[in-house]
Amino acid sequence: MLQTSNYDSLLIRGGRIIDPFTDRDEIGDIAVVNGVVARAPTNNAHVIDASGWIVCPGLMDIHVHLREPGQTHKETIETGTAAAVAGGFTFVACMPNTKPPLDHPDAIRSVLERARNAGHCQVGPIAAITKGRSGNTITDFGVLLDTGVVALSDDGDGVDDDSVMRAAFESAREVGAVLIQHCEYKAISAAGVMHLGDVSRRRGFPGLDPRSEEAMIERDIDLCRETSSRYHVAHVSTARAVDLVRRAKAEGLPVTTEVCTHHLVLTDEACAEGDPNTKMHPPLRPWADVEECRRGLLDGTIDCIVTDHAPHTVEEKAAGFLRAPPGIVGLETAVGLAAQAMIESGLADWPQLVAWFTAGPTAVLNRRPRPIEVGARADLSLLSPLSRWTVDPQRFVSRGRNTPFSGWKLTGKAIGTVQGRRVAVSPGARLKSSQQPAEDFR
Ligand SMILES: [Zn+2]
Repeated sequence: MLQTSNYDSLLIRGGRIIDPFTDRDEIGDIAVVNGVVARAPTNNAHVIDASGWIVCPGLMDIHVHLREPGQTHKETIETGTAAAVAGGFTFVACMPNTKPPLDHPDAIRSVLERARNAGHCQVGPIAAITKGRSGNTITDFGVLLDTGVVALSDDGDGVDDDSVMRAAFESAREVGAVLIQHCEYKAISAAGVMHLGDVSRRRGFPGLDPRSEEAMIERDIDLCRETSSRYHVAHVSTARAVDLVRRAKAEGLPVTTEVCTHHLVLTDEACAEGDPNTKMHPPLRPWADVEECRRGLLDGTIDCIVTDHAPHTVEEKAAGFLRAPPGIVGLETAVGLAAQAMIESGLADWPQLVAWFTAGPTAVLNRRPRPIEVGARADLSLLSPLSRWTVDPQRFVSRGRNTPFSGWKLTGKAIGTVQGRRVAVSPGARLKSSQQPAEDFR
């Protein structure tokens, strides 16, 4: 459970303020009065001792499955957004592969209303590219954008048909929408349950050909070149796919991409025991692909880190490796796993990591930057970069327990968020706080 409190006057004292929107990185205090960042706190402010912590703009995850409507046994908008806050996120974009799918303005309005009622964080719905996510007829992008969607995707499936995808690119250009593609040609991936390679052959599991991902990216980059319309590759996972995006960017095409936390830390060797919690789409890949995903982040080919948070029930995952649905939960392990992949490895530092969760996704979705500045609504994450902790799925705020990271020891953790007057603290995290006059405000 999140612990939440509201404060009219708050002083976050002595944290390392990292703001990728303004390139700020310094120790300092942040005052929040009536939910807005202020020059100084009022007297009798509630003081949070943030020494040793990072204070940064609220993290964003632009690839999340909230499962509502229709699959609330897996997750709800309420539990999913609470899990997001526990992971340090103040914004999630949710995918449309719900039941029924988010392909109509009424469905979008309903998601936004439920998210508002839950009150945990901002939700940006992603609407389906095609009606019913059937891949046949595109939805009305203009009307959906007016309702508040942040992008369009048939995630869970790719749009196979060339003419339908061309129509999507043309419509997206007209209305200025971002298309997000789950790149997987079903005809190529077929019945594959894990990466096609040494491990799948050894285990005798049906292999999923990486060409299914790469071929669709190639087709889409061609369409992007023809239409100059914004295109985002969801969960890039192979070295060749990363390189396709790298070359498209070098050509000046409006192409962006994201990588999932699990694709930065696990290889297909993790599937060798047949644990259904290592089954996901796209699948875990060999080390060379993991390395290239890390390199892609460092050289700017990959714009942001996402979780592809995909909750399933224990019963569903108990169906075994071949039959269990693909996907794992990720919101509450994202910061620790990303830190392990990119910081403990010596590849990157915290300002870079924070940018992959803030400025990166903001640019992908063409959203307004949210610098920490006087007069702005408080929208902050508190991170503890040195906290050592052990992943315990039973303590997740999410309804999902499906993670391959149970028992992993991670360094770096989200403490919580400050959104407006509301301070929300992750389970197990503690604030050192006091009620005192803030006489020595920095
Ligand atoms: Zn997907």
